[in-house]
Amino acid sequence: MTWLHCIECGDRYGGNEPRYTCDCGGLLEVRYEETPSRSDFSGPLGVWRYSSVLPLETADSVTLHEGGTPLYDTEKLSDEIGVEIHVKHEGMNPTGSFKDRGMTVGVSKAIELGIERVACASTGNTSAALAAYGAAADIPAVVLLPQGKVAMGKVAQALMHGAHLVELDGNFDECLRIVRELADEGFFYVLNSINPYRLEGQKTIAFELLEQMNWEVPDRVVLPIGNAGNISAIYKGFREFYHGGIIDEMPMMTGVQAEGASPLVGALQKSGPLEPFESPETKATAIRIGDPVNAPKAREAIGETDGTATSVTDEELMDAQVKLAQREGIGVEPASATSVAGVKKLLNEGVIDSTETVACVTTGHLLKDPDAALEASGDTTKADATLEAVREALD
Ligand SMILES: *Cc1c(COP(=O)(O)O)cnc(C)c1O
Ligand SMILES: [Zn+2]
Repeated sequence: MTWLHCIECGDRYGGNEPRYTCDCGGLLEVRYEETPSRSDFSGPLGVWRYSSVLPLETADSVTLHEGGTPLYDTEKLSDEIGVEIHVKHEGMNPTGSFKDRGMTVGVSKAIELGIERVACASTGNTSAALAAYGAAADIPAVVLLPQGKVAMGKVAQALMHGAHLVELDGNFDECLRIVRELADEGFFYVLNSINPYRLEGQKTIAFELLEQMNWEVPDRVVLPIGNAGNISAIYKGFREFYHGGIIDEMPMMTGVQAEGASPLVGALQKSGPLEPFESPETKATAIRIGDPVNAPKAREAIGETDGTATSVTDEELMDAQVKLAQREGIGVEPASATSVAGVKKLLNEGVIDSTETVACVTTGHLLKDPDAALEASGDTTKADATLEAVREALD
């Protein structure tokens, strides 16, 4: 049994009609009658291992075997940065980002609700995931994109999986505003992270992380913030296990934004209202978002765990992307590298203590954005096709 709970006023809604926010305007989250128990979890590591704490009631899951992503120890990177870092690489999901965890639950729920068309606004990865899960479920998918601001790999995926892509001459925030208005008119069902069911899939990142760390709670979990859904979802996962008595402490939830798109960092520093960035700009296009819809949930996640948020420059995040790739062999897209860049910055500032155990969530795969990878990693060497020329080139 599940229901939707308003995080602002506490009102309750049944789960059998499409609904994204409370009548008061507050964000909703899924609540459960059941308390999670370790003995209920079965099957391979992955989202549906935790079906006892997921909101599907009657429908079969639409799955591409998402989740079960690797957790890497990073000895060289940890030594270099000066704190123990583990990397949960969400780029290893079916379409190459954590969005698959959200979509397997969100699209399954859409089928359960009898929805006939699904949609999202996207900085890229949501569109790739929606398109793939829409294809698997045989339900049409519509995507609104900010024109020219989505990495090539993501556009190719969304098109290949058969979504209807509409590029708008505007930024992500404008795309999302339009998607939400069309959804209110009944045009389609929205699977952005404003959708509380989607976040339920993403909370399993916390569950897997705990299992992979032998139920030792890391001191801190660090991840990029765009629309602020994932940090809220992961926090909720830890919170459910905490309330269920499965763990007895919470990690400090720590979000990292790109400097050119860091409204949440500003709001937290001032302890004031969030002032949207009208023209967010960063090479980490996945988090090029000026008005994060899940900011109230993220503020709770950070506030309740004694966490923090910081921002990094494009230069810092590109440097971290190269370090992950070249020291550890872990290939991530620019937005994902903000996690490691943020750890480095917070350690230098004395916010992170060098004795902490830190888990970084790298949200998307290197191949998502080949242009950014080429820009960050230097050029090829050219040579004539002769032994001599190659010997010389390699010297
Ligand atoms: C979507 C996305 C993010 C941001 O997640 P939010 O839930 O919007 O905060 C970060 N990194 C990548 C690679 C993403 O695709
Ligand atoms: Zn409310």
